Amino acid sequence: MWMPTLRAWETQSRTTKGVVISLAGPEPLAGPCDRAASSLRGPSGVPEGTLARQIPGGLWNVPMPGFPRVQESYDIVIVGGGHAGLQAGLKAALLHFTAIVIDRGPKYSRSYYSPRMDNIPGFPEGISGHALLDRQIAALRQHEDRVTYVTPARATAARRKENGFEVDFEWLKQTRTVRGKYLILAPGVVDRIPDVEGKIDPIFPWANQGLVYFCEFCDGHELPGKRVAVLGATPYAARLALELKHFGPTSIEILTHGEPMLGELPPPERAELEGELRAAGIPWSEGRMVGFDGIREKNFTVKFADGTTRTFDRGFSGLGWYDMHGHLPQALGAAFDADGYVQTDEDCRVLSKESGQPIPGLYCVGDLRSGWNQIPEAWATAERAVIDVFVQSV
Ligand SMILES: Cc1cc2nc3c(=O)[nH]c(=O)nc-3n(C[C@H](O)[C@H](O)[C@H](O)COP(=O)(O)OP(=O)(O)OC[C@H]3O[C@@H](n4cnc5c(N)ncnc54)[C@H](O)[C@@H]3O)c2cc1C
Repeated sequence: MWMPTLRAWETQSRTTKGVVISLAGPEPLAGPCDRAASSLRGPSGVPEGTLARQIPGGLWNVPMPGFPRVQESYDIVIVGGGHAGLQAGLKAALLHFTAIVIDRGPKYSRSYYSPRMDNIPGFPEGISGHALLDRQIAALRQHEDRVTYVTPARATAARRKENGFEVDFEWLKQTRTVRGKYLILAPGVVDRIPDVEGKIDPIFPWANQGLVYFCEFCDGHELPGKRVAVLGATPYAARLALELKHFGPTSIEILTHGEPMLGELPPPERAELEGELRAAGIPWSEGRMVGFDGIREKNFTVKFADGTTRTFDRGFSGLGWYDMHGHLPQALGAAFDADGYVQTDEDCRVLSKESGQPIPGLYCVGDLRSGWNQIPEAWATAERAVIDVFVQSV
């Protein structure tokens, strides 16, 4: 069982982007995209790795029904196949590039558990995160002649080479290296889930029902007239609570889950922020949560260790990020902003931490890039990156 670590709690910081929390831990729940991913596992349910071991040299150069054929090199290597990476793959195909999209699996995308998203053009009734991913995957699969989509596969290392980049990735229990003239990083970020009695699962049913939110810009509009519990103890959680007032909830309370409220701040700053909370009528409670209830009534009822319960209409996580996926951009010399996002120019070319100039051929798109964590932005950044590849190479 994957457990969130204290490290992520400690390193999370206030961001200019608002709150964006993913439910995509290493062992998330199953869903429709799991079926899509497992259909790639080959005929007759043969366990992953078995076929690879039977064929000398592995599967890489042997076309197998149900498995994509991986070439040694492509025009573009894309790491991550969430909303940004899938769009980059599609755009690459449409602009007549070859590309490979290496993805751990749709269930690791941050939107995967979002039951309804309201800002996606073309879906006036809204669309769930996994349904949108399924559609993007289906669109990419129309272009298998140009774009190889490998999942579940995990990129583990990336290096700059004379004529581009090399990326190592694990797939079918083997490590493979692929080369690309251009490299687009689109691994997103992974957000913290509240750890309740040593488990992250307890909150999933409430998140899946849209009773606990993780993204202010995605779901803040649902709060008018609602009693809201904000989870967290940091300045980030406090500022989120203050910002959520904008949407007109009837009440907001911060639940610190056993942590001292704003305990990380020096006393003067702590007093100042506490004053802001008091002035805004936002109380906090430092009781430890031991479970949740009220799902049938569509409530978010919190059970505390002292035996008391509190009922809210909605929960809102202010816990920050578990993993910013910084290791690949770091290895490639990228510059990061103060919140840990990769810095790029407007064409999404990654800036060098040494020179401040774009690193030739290297792009970062989607949530990992310093910008706003929204799907239309993920798509726009993917478009910009691939169009820049076109401009640079044609
Ligand atoms: C609960 C929730 C609700 C949301 N609702 C909305 C909404 O209503 N509207 C909106 O616009 N946005 C919403 N968002 C934000 C939105 O989900 C993100 O902005 C979007 O998913 C970012 O796309 P991305 O491709 O950058 O990252 P992701 O979609 O998170 O995809 C990253 C992908 O990279 C893969 N990956 C990571 N590391 C590796 C690796 N080493 N090797 C291979 N693959 C890797 C993962 O498998 C994953 O598929 C929501 C987020 C959450 C958490």
